[in-house]
Amino acid sequence: MSVEKFDAVVVGAGIAGLYAIHRLREIGFSVKAFEKGDGVGGTWYWNRYPGARCDVESWDYSYTFSEELAQEWEWTERYPTQPEIERYLNHVADRFDLRRDIEFGTRIDQACFDESENRWLLRTSKDATIAARYLVSAAGALSEKFTPKISGVETFAGEQYHTSSWPAEGVDLANKRVGVIGTGSTGIQAIPQIAKEAEHLYVFQRTAQHVIPAQNHPLDEDQRREIKATFRQRLEEKLANAVGMSGFPEDPPSLLELDAETRREVFEGGWEVGGPVAVNRAFSDTGTNWDANKVLGELVIEKNSEAVNDPGVADKLLTIDHPIGSRRLIVGIDYFETYNRDNVTLVDASTAPIEAITAGGLRAGGDEIELDVLIYATGFDGVSGPLMAMDIQGVGGRLLRDKWATRPTAFLGLVASGFPNLFMITGPGSPSIFSNVIFAIEQHVDWIKDCLTYMTEHGFNHIDANPDVEDDWTQQVDKAAENLIVGSTKSWWTGENIPGKPAGLNFYLGGLHNYRAKCDEVADNGYEGFLLQSR
Ligand SMILES: Cc1cc2nc3c(=O)[nH]c(=O)nc-3n(C[C@H](O)[C@H](O)[C@H](O)COP(=O)(O)OP(=O)(O)OC[C@H]3O[C@@H](n4cnc5c(N)ncnc54)[C@H](O)[C@@H]3O)c2cc1C
Repeated sequence: MSVEKFDAVVVGAGIAGLYAIHRLREIGFSVKAFEKGDGVGGTWYWNRYPGARCDVESWDYSYTFSEELAQEWEWTERYPTQPEIERYLNHVADRFDLRRDIEFGTRIDQACFDESENRWLLRTSKDATIAARYLVSAAGALSEKFTPKISGVETFAGEQYHTSSWPAEGVDLANKRVGVIGTGSTGIQAIPQIAKEAEHLYVFQRTAQHVIPAQNHPLDEDQRREIKATFRQRLEEKLANAVGMSGFPEDPPSLLELDAETRREVFEGGWEVGGPVAVNRAFSDTGTNWDANKVLGELVIEKNSEAVNDPGVADKLLTIDHPIGSRRLIVGIDYFETYNRDNVTLVDASTAPIEAITAGGLRAGGDEIELDVLIYATGFDGVSGPLMAMDIQGVGGRLLRDKWATRPTAFLGLVASGFPNLFMITGPGSPSIFSNVIFAIEQHVDWIKDCLTYMTEHGFNHIDANPDVEDDWTQQVDKAAENLIVGSTKSWWTGENIPGKPAGLNFYLGGLHNYRAKCDEVADNGYEGFLLQSR
């Protein structure tokens, strides 16, 4: 049996995988990436559903490692669409000649740590065996899709799609009765677009949501010039705040300390700007104080309800059972206005639960709804899901799945003890999706590159996390989340969208800037907390 050998294997060719290939090559490593899709882009390769769009502004949702790249690329909108981001990532792959080290259409199914040889042995979906000194997971936080098990699904005579594996050639929805299950970030982006195409759209909503308007707009020439001219200044801003975005509100006022009129003025100002940060971070206390949070939630609901003509429909859309920001705050474009269309029906699945899929459609609350197409906007098994989908065996043959049976842990969210020489980009216990993810990815990849450089220079070839230090980090993760309203509701953030998954908020919420400082401190102290060896 022939075994191909590399210094490092990267799983995935999204934003993280592409950047990891680039940086690992720089330190002279032989690198190979395996990507189950047929192209680069990860999230932006798979999520081709109508309306798919980023809700971080284009000028921040860009790599910063190459100023030349930033200067030559032209974004066309404030919030870029999926096709535009996919084009950008293809441009990056070409510009840095990354494709030659990627094998597409190939999944890593199994990874076993071979203790005698101090290497990872990988098994691919094409039955090849690959050996790698280091394994870098760039498998993403949101790449393992979740489809709820609904009885009768196999009987449905129509077409069924999950938004995150939307066909590249698109889906013809004209003259069709379409059902969308789910009103999370994806559903709320897709519903207005699908409504324009379908004969009739039925939306099955289990959870009513707060939605902030994107106030999206095209970028004119002056704005594009400004973005380029301020590259360095914006980079400084991104390094200095909790979420890695520029234009972050510096010193917002306390909502509770403002009188009602000033409070409304500040709120309206944020609403006009649009996007999650301008509203959610307009006040200093709405993320920690329940009274302040309640007022903000009411202001958002009042604004949202102005867009809906039918008070009964508005009531269903806006009877919200959770504090604002306790689950992912959603950015929408014409979402509520869509319910004023004659061809859109809202089905409140909290009072009329989905009972079964039938040959002709779907039964909810005792009513049969006839459908030609059923669309699952039902999200992902987040963060630990893509890693646990692989059969990863560490020291002593222990499965990562078993280690993480009650809670996924890793020191700094980067290395899980007992799984040496495996680095996880945006892994559990790091800020991950609680930040501008591309910026968090750059920080992780740069740290990994520096760590591997240090190891090579000092004659080490084996890194593991000290289990006690990993436990201590988990406690720090919990402490940073104390007293925050974020995560106080069941959602994919807490893993509670997945039946049987242990509940918990496994993100470092102390801010990307503080997290970066902690990672730097560990590195400056000779990778304190990691066990480095020569084997
Ligand atoms: C619809 C959607 C919208 C989003 N919007 C935002 C946003 O506005 N702002 C933001 O900051 N973040 C957003 N995110 C999060 C987004 O995932 C990240 O910003 C970013 O794309 C993550 O890049 P990545 O390379 O880490 O992972 P991904 O882009 O998920 O790439 C991982 C890749 O790994 C591959 N892979 C996984 N397992 C295997 C395996 N076993 N073998 C081979 N290949 C494998 C997958 O096919 C995938 O291509 C969004 C996510 C989704 C799904």
